[in-house]
Amino acid sequence: AKHNGRGWYSLFETGMDQSISARHALETELRAALAADGLALAFQPLFGPDREITSCEALVRWNHPERGPIPPSEFIPIAEQSGLIIPLSRWVLHTACAAAAEWQSSCRIAVNLSPAQFIRGDLLATVMTVLEETGLAAERLELEITEGVLMDNTERTLETLKQLRGLGVSLVLDDFGTGYSSLSYLHRFPLNKLKVDRSFVQRMGADPSARAIISAVVAMSHSLSLAVTAEGVETLDQFELLRAEGCDTFQGYALSRPLPASQIARYMRDHGKA
Ligand code: C2E
Ligand code: CA
Ligand code: CA
Ligand code: CA
Repeated sequence: AKHNGRGWYSLFETGMDQSISARHALETELRAALAADGLALAFQPLFGPDREITSCEALVRWNHPERGPIPPSEFIPIAEQSGLIIPLSRWVLHTACAAAAEWQSSCRIAVNLSPAQFIRGDLLATVMTVLEETGLAAERLELEITEGVLMDNTERTLETLKQLRGLGVSLVLDDFGTGYSSLSYLHRFPLNKLKVDRSFVQRMGADPSARAIISAVVAMSHSLSLAVTAEGVETLDQFELLRAEGCDTFQGYALSRPLPASQIARYMRDHGKA
């Protein structure tokens, strides 16, 4: 029994070693990419009910020299576990604000935050510095947070969010409906907007209860003076349904894919009269 146990254990250990060293290799390469200007941003426009651009979300991209594009769902968790998320997020914030400051449009720029940035405690100072460095008006910056941020460390988080609001920055609760979705968050924290997760949008056509949930979320949000964004809008039928349900802004492939940084300035000049 002992022999079998050990044989199994060493096999298991080998597998673990491989995945740990693969993660470690990716982390090392990500660190190098960040240092050598090897990351990029894509910008996905968000639209109002008349298809006017209201904002753009910055999405980080990593084109690995050998492996090709690696999705953020793969490398953001590695960055979060290694602490690399802090310099990476600062790079994203600076690059996104600098880009938006150049657009011939008053459209806002939305940037995703990581929970680690709240734990570290210098988020407010970082945002103030980046706004100063780039000359972007605070009113043009939207910060997207997830429910996880609101769940832990609530007193200090609440204080930081209030201070960010005090600067004029907007706060968006991202991926609403995927986590605990406690309704108490919605009035406890100084949020401006809520993004209904794309899983609801995708189920809406086939599942009437998904549509009922969106309808209820819109009613509740509006009664709390929160705007509602629908994400993952992949068809014009979904766009029309969501518009009929009273959603305020819309994001998804049906309206625009994320655009490379090299295209966004021209796109904003041609479409971004918001
Ligand atoms: P997210 O914040 O929910 O971002 C929206 C994701 O949905 C993006 O994926 C976007 O490309 C994708 N998307 C947009 N329209 C559609 C659509 O119509 N259908 C479908 N199926 N997907 C659509 P992406 O760029 O792969 O990013 C995935 C996640 O990685 C983001 O989800 C966000 O959580 C994280 N992420 C991306 N960039 C950053 C960043 O700079 N910082 C941090 N902390 N996280 C980031
Ligand atoms: Ca987001
Ligand atoms: Ca989202
Ligand atoms: Ca999401």
